[in-house]
Amino acid sequence: VAKEQGKRTFIVFSPEMNRRVAEYMWLDTNLRKGLEQNQLVVYYQPKISTHTGLACSVEALVRWDSPERGLIPPIQFISYAEESGLIGPLGLWVLQTAAKQAAKWQQQGLNIRIAVNISARQLVDDSVVNDLACVLEENQLTPCMLDFELTESSLIEDENRAHEVIGRLRALGAQVHLDDFGTGYSSLAQLARIPLDAIKLDKSFVRGVDLAPVSQSLIRAIVAAAEALQFRVIAEGVETESEDQFLNCVGVDEKQGFLFAQPMLPEEFEAWVQSYRPHHHQAEDDAGKG
Ligand code: C2E
Ligand code: MG
Ligand code: MG
Ligand code: MG
Repeated sequence: VAKEQGKRTFIVFSPEMNRRVAEYMWLDTNLRKGLEQNQLVVYYQPKISTHTGLACSVEALVRWDSPERGLIPPIQFISYAEESGLIGPLGLWVLQTAAKQAAKWQQQGLNIRIAVNISARQLVDDSVVNDLACVLEENQLTPCMLDFELTESSLIEDENRAHEVIGRLRALGAQVHLDDFGTGYSSLAQLARIPLDAIKLDKSFVRGVDLAPVSQSLIRAIVAAAEALQFRVIAEGVETESEDQFLNCVGVDEKQGFLFAQPMLPEEFEAWVQSYRPHHHQAEDDAGKG
């Protein structure tokens, strides 16, 4: 609120605005330093294939281990990074870290794909294509074990350019997934034009779906549309057995959520994947039917 009193201008900030400005300034002083001083950490959360019951891939999720505040979740710094331009170096660091991890796991005989989240900005300035080519080369990561998750907002700014970049990422062997599907504004017509491998249903649809007829109909419709367009469907945020069972029944291809595992450090994931035994999966049902 700006009040004009003669020549003097008073800017009155609400406590909320004050808090935001202070937070922005704190991030401005500390996040770049944190990145340079190696304080960022990548956690990995598995996705379970409905068809095999096994972990088929992991999502790379960044956190910031700040000496001042402890472990900070991405929701508290990604939008600052996007606004300030720091998302460029930050995103590259996540991609490099994921590529090294994938190569390390490959050498251990653990062949698991890693999906990296990318922001609209990284897609539009198209450095991501070159970055992918570089990390594949540096880590001798063949075949390409890296995939990308991008949000619908990435496609709005410049659709043609986004399509071109997606095509080039896929030409390098990466899969491209549309993240948080259902929370944005892409039309079916638009969806049909994008060269995608999968759509990732937002957790707001998945939450409580076993009890919500409207969400059930929506998910069935989305799965049918995805089938027609030849995209796979991945569900995020699966927390309960009955949500899981519903998703198996409607033909979702992969599932991710706290029911199976939280995001984990690499060593934790290695231990988890050794001991994970699916108790129920679609392949058993299919075998039973046939
Ligand atoms: P996202 O890509 O949609 O990732 C899924 C988020 O849901 C993650 O939160 C994950 O920990 C959380 N999640 C997974 N399973 C469950 C569940 O069963 N229940 C609930 N309630 N939540 C679940 P996280 O790690 O806090 O990440 C938040 C967002 O930050 C991500 O959402 C993504 O948009 C962004 N992000 C994370 N890492 C990166 C990155 O390296 N680059 C960019 N650009 N964005 C990132
Ligand atoms: Mg994601
Ligand atoms: Mg998501
Ligand atoms: Mg989400």
